[in-house]
Amino acid sequence: MNSKELKEKIIKAIEENKDLIIKTSREIYSTPEYGYKEFQSTKATVKFLKDLGLEVEENIAVTGCKTVMKGGKPGPNIAILGELDAISCATHKDAVETGAVHACGHNHQVAGMLGAALGLAKSGILQELAGNVSIIATPSEEFVELEYRAKLREEGKITYFGGKQELIKKGYFDDVDMAMMFHSSDMGEKDALVGPVSNGFIGKKVRFIGKESHAGSAPEEGINALNAAMLAMNNIHAQRETFKDSDRVRVHPIITKGGNIVNSVPDDVQMESYVRARTIEGMIDSNNKVDRALKAGAMAVGAKVEITNIPGYLPVLNYPEFNELFKNNLLFMGMPEEKIIKGGDFTGSFDLGDVSHLMPTIHPMIGGVKGNLHTRDFQVIDEDLAYVLPAKAMALTIVDLLYKDASTAKNILDNFKPAMTKKEYLDFMESVDKVESFEG
Ligand SMILES: [Zn+2]
Repeated sequence: MNSKELKEKIIKAIEENKDLIIKTSREIYSTPEYGYKEFQSTKATVKFLKDLGLEVEENIAVTGCKTVMKGGKPGPNIAILGELDAISCATHKDAVETGAVHACGHNHQVAGMLGAALGLAKSGILQELAGNVSIIATPSEEFVELEYRAKLREEGKITYFGGKQELIKKGYFDDVDMAMMFHSSDMGEKDALVGPVSNGFIGKKVRFIGKESHAGSAPEEGINALNAAMLAMNNIHAQRETFKDSDRVRVHPIITKGGNIVNSVPDDVQMESYVRARTIEGMIDSNNKVDRALKAGAMAVGAKVEITNIPGYLPVLNYPEFNELFKNNLLFMGMPEEKIIKGGDFTGSFDLGDVSHLMPTIHPMIGGVKGNLHTRDFQVIDEDLAYVLPAKAMALTIVDLLYKDASTAKNILDNFKPAMTKKEYLDFMESVDKVESFEG
């Protein structure tokens, strides 16, 4: 069979089983769960894969699962990923009691991933391919509920707050050569966006420690931690003109605790922030400046500051040749070229960025939804476009990569030098991950 015939078989298999794919997406939508708590969603995913006759490793990082589908001959291993977690948006009409709702469309990703697996399995074309396909349902992409994750970390259940970070560390990407996934996005008149890049970030928790004293009768005996924090905030603003435009730095601190009671000098003031930038160098440079600004605030009033740096995500890197394959499959299925945005520049962050530093990846955006991500307005309006079409596009891209002795995948991999080795990646993560105390 030629590759066009293989692709047509896959499309047919997915079309014939569309109802099951849609049912699974709706089921996951109805049980939204936060990161590292996606027990129901993992269960539904595992059941779907087992029903395809696959052997599944469950709860690979607290939750999540992985299965490897074998091709007819050895060759590269291509992963298809789907994120399991929901986000918090209590004002969304479909939010459950916890405030969780799939307002980032991760249920579409999982349904798309499962649809691709189904297309490859039921079409019977796998033995025509040289290589394997890993299906990995990944936990915890949204960087939220930090206290819960800190507790999991203390209990030794995780090392990192991001699911893909954790899976990299645990070795679930060791046998993977390339990875693909998609995100839902409302792009107005457009249906797809191919080849985006994004910022990475470092997460920060900051605590200013002063000295309490009666705010009316003896303020001179206190050390005002709120003043330290306010000065630090202004010091951070004073750094902004030093950030390179090309680094696209975003620093957005908030005060999460401003004091205890109004008639006592505040002695415990807490802040959180992200420091985002387009490059790792930019992330480190701006983070050092933010730390300097925090310490200067403490120093001005003689307070102490504790700075906890948490490794966030790395910038998403773009692999044009790999993206081109995905885009051509959208065209192959009849999506008009003018409906596709090429490129895309996000100053937000995704944990696929970490994977993109180790191997070629793609992270296209697909429409079929309305409203901004993470808002009450977000909803699916076209289930076919939102996840049935990307299921097909990902499975067809597998054919391009692994057909004919996998010459296309091998060609991409031969010309590829990873931004980091796994060891360099883990060393970097460790170098960021630290608590620093400064006595002002
Ligand atoms: Zn998302």
